[in-house]
Amino acid sequence: MPLIIGILKEREDKRVAITPDNIKRSKLKDAEWWIESGAGAESGFNNGMYVAPAKIVSRSEILQQANIIASIFPPADDELGSINKDALLISQFRPYQDESVQKKLADQPYKVISMDMIPRTTLAQAMDVLSSMASISGYRAVILAAQQLPRHFPMMITSAGSIRPAKVLVIGAGVAGLQAIATSRKLGAIVEAFDVRAAAKEEVQSLGAKFVEVEGAKDDKGAGGYAVQQSEEYLARQRAEVQARAMKSDVIICTAQVRGRKAPILIEADTIPQMRHGSVIIDLAASTGGNCALTENGKTIVRNGITIIGDSSLETGMPEDASQMYGNNVLNLLTHITKDGELNLRMEDEIVKGCLIKS
Ligand code: NAD
Repeated sequence: MPLIIGILKEREDKRVAITPDNIKRSKLKDAEWWIESGAGAESGFNNGMYVAPAKIVSRSEILQQANIIASIFPPADDELGSINKDALLISQFRPYQDESVQKKLADQPYKVISMDMIPRTTLAQAMDVLSSMASISGYRAVILAAQQLPRHFPMMITSAGSIRPAKVLVIGAGVAGLQAIATSRKLGAIVEAFDVRAAAKEEVQSLGAKFVEVEGAKDDKGAGGYAVQQSEEYLARQRAEVQARAMKSDVIICTAQVRGRKAPILIEADTIPQMRHGSVIIDLAASTGGNCALTENGKTIVRNGITIIGDSSLETGMPEDASQMYGNNVLNLLTHITKDGELNLRMEDEIVKGCLIKS
C-alpha cells in the first residue's frame, strides 16, 4: 500500500503546507499526495497544478484515510475526533503558548508532530519552520517600514540636495531580527541592534550593524538557543538604552521574545512622543504582547505621528514563497521519518523526540 500524504486547505491562511514544486522534488518512494481541493489556490497553486503523484480530493477523505496529514494550522477542534486513528498529524500546535493543546490531544488515538517543536539544531535546520517563516517576516517588516516611512532608507546625493540614510533599530537579533538587519543594510540604512544572547553580537556585527550591549544579561546555553527571562532591573536599564536610541531612529523593528512567556516591553509609552515625527515601529512580537507598550496585535495605529504596526505573521502576506519554504521543511521532515516508503518514527532520534508531542 502506498503511503498517502494528505494536505489540508487552511481555513484562515493563504499558505499551503505543500506546493506542486515540493511534490515534484520529493524522493519519497511510491507516496501518493492527496490535496484538499483549493488548498493552494490563495498561494498561486491551483488544483490543476497538482499533478500525479498528487490528486485533488475532499477534506473528509484526507481526514479519514490519509496516513500522514499535514497543515500549517491544526484542524478545527471539532475535526480532531474524526481523524484516521492510525494517522500521523503534522501541524503547528504551539504547545509552549497554549496549555490546552496537550489536553485536547491526550485522548486521540493518532500521533502528532508539532513543526514548531523541531529542535533548533544544525541537523534539524532544514525542517525548522520557525526559522524559515521568521526569516520572511524579518524581510517583510523592513519592506513594510520603508513603504510607511515618509523618508528615504538610503543616503541620496542629488541635484536637489542630500538626504541622510535612515536609522534602523532592531530589538532582538534572532532569525527575524538578523534578516531585518540584512534587509535594512541592503536598502542603505544605518542599523543598530540589541539582544541578550552573547552569540548574537558577532552575527549582528558580521551584517554590518552596531551591536548595543547592555551589561549583565542572563544567557543560558541550556535553553535550546532561546533567550531566558531577564530581571526587572536589567530590563529597566535596557529600556533606558532603547529610549535613548529610539529618539534618533526612523524605524524600529521589534522581535524580542522569550519562548513560552510574554514578550518583554522595551519601548515604553512615554518614548513614543520623543521619537521623530513619521517614524515607524513594526512589532513582530505583537502576538505575545509586543515589545512596545502601545502595540495592538493585528492593528496599525498612529500615536504622536508614529506609526505602530503590530503583526506577528507578516510571512502570510508572501504566501507563495512562504508555502514553498514551509513545504520544503515538511518534505525534509518526511524524508527523515520515513524509510522505504513507510513511516519510520525512531523514538530515540533527537528530532523526533523534540517534535512528537503525542505518540
Ligand atoms: P525568538 O523569536 O525566540 O526571539 C527573538 C530574539 O529576541 C532572540 O534572539 C532573543 O535572544 C531575543 N531577545 C529576547 N529577550 C530580549 C531582550 N530583553 N532584549 C533583546 N533581545 C531579546 O528567537 P528565534 O529567532 O526563534 O531564535 C531562537 C534561537 O534559536 C536563536 O538563538 C537562534 O540563533 C537559534 N537558532 C538556531 C538554529 C540552528 O542552529 N539551526 C536555527 C534557528 C535558530
